[in-house]
Amino acid sequence: MVKRKLCEPLEDHKGNLYFDGLSVEDLAKKYDTPLYVISEKRIRENYNRLYNAIVSKYKDVRIYYACKANTNLTVLKILKSEGAYLDAVSTGEVFMGLNSGFSPENILFTGTSVRNDELKFLIDTGITVNIDSQSELDRLLKISVPPTISVRVNPEIGAGHHEHCVTAGLQTKFGLWENEVLKAYTTAKKARVERFGIHMHIGSGILEIEPYIQAVEKLLSIAKRVHDELGIVFDFIDLGGGLGVPYQSNDTELNIPDFTSQVVSLFKSKVKEYHLGKPFLCIEPGRYLVCDASVLLTTVNTVKVTPYRKFICVDSGFNTLIRPAMYGSYHEILVANKLSRKKTETFDVVGPICETGDVLAKNRELPLVVEGDVLAILNAGAYGFSMSSQYNSRPRAAEVMIRQGKPVLVREREQFQDLLTSQRVAQQ
Ligand SMILES: *Cc1c(COP(=O)(O)O)cnc(C)c1O
Repeated sequence: MVKRKLCEPLEDHKGNLYFDGLSVEDLAKKYDTPLYVISEKRIRENYNRLYNAIVSKYKDVRIYYACKANTNLTVLKILKSEGAYLDAVSTGEVFMGLNSGFSPENILFTGTSVRNDELKFLIDTGITVNIDSQSELDRLLKISVPPTISVRVNPEIGAGHHEHCVTAGLQTKFGLWENEVLKAYTTAKKARVERFGIHMHIGSGILEIEPYIQAVEKLLSIAKRVHDELGIVFDFIDLGGGLGVPYQSNDTELNIPDFTSQVVSLFKSKVKEYHLGKPFLCIEPGRYLVCDASVLLTTVNTVKVTPYRKFICVDSGFNTLIRPAMYGSYHEILVANKLSRKKTETFDVVGPICETGDVLAKNRELPLVVEGDVLAILNAGAYGFSMSSQYNSRPRAAEVMIRQGKPVLVREREQFQDLLTSQRVAQQ
């Protein structure tokens, strides 16, 4: 396999791994493991790289951070301070956004299978709802008529790193199909909704530009129909998220200058051709902003050799990072103090969960590892902590943010006491 040079915020200091300027072994010693370490600097760089690439081509741009990737409050505040908007898929995420200072006007709710009390909450807090079904729209309008409505369209083209993460196309539950879209806007217009958006989100972990091109074409052709047939002018056109990051050394990187130049040029030319006015161009990256800004540190408890396999048994399992078990995802793993050692062995890296599927990496070439070694699992910032659980009654990990070269604890490690939260023992 091609050895990729470590790139920022990772560094090799004489064979020892540093992250955003700090020794990961020191961090593991100070805060214990499992530990998510997040680089504030990297999040800001990711945001600005993307924002600058788009804004240089189209002025009216809004980047909505899809916060299900990582809802740490400090992460939310950092992105807010950069000027990000917020994409929320649940009322809980709306709550987290409001709690970290996002104003309601800057939050877009894109839920699916939404309850009436959730719609009521969204109306009461003044959040723009991106509707996912005619039923949701009808139920929303019964509660109250909001000033703005957006409709999530299924452009019938999807993509993603795993079939679970393809969120458009023929088999998906998400969005409205073209003929339903017209009906939804007709309903909203009749109810005297005043402002409109249109939206798609085709999938997650996409490294190619082509699916976006096809989907943008379809979305804008639908926007044209809505505009032509109903006289609706869109305040915003939202292309969704899904921008992938390379996890594996042979993954191609999504080239941001190419992506933005192709997608934004197409957007601009279609908006002009279809006389769609001057809508905001919105995108909703989650993974792209936070993924490579975090590593998960874990300690080796046991190295176990059986007649068939060699296992490195660590203190993080799919309770801490579920992506490998859930999607078969690949995460690069580095041994913190052995960057210069040759990879001589093939291991399975497994966790403490009592399930055979508790695997973080399979058949992975690593240097000889011993008990007490610290491993760094890379690209852990997106769908890492946010998908973690207390399964097997294991308290969740701590999170540390590196801010201006110093570590700051931004989430305490859970304790046994946290396992009791909200349980009540039935009285005899
Ligand atoms: C999950 C999600 C995103 C972000 O997906 P990423 O792959 O993390 O960029 C954006 N929009 C919606 C509606 C989503 O559900």
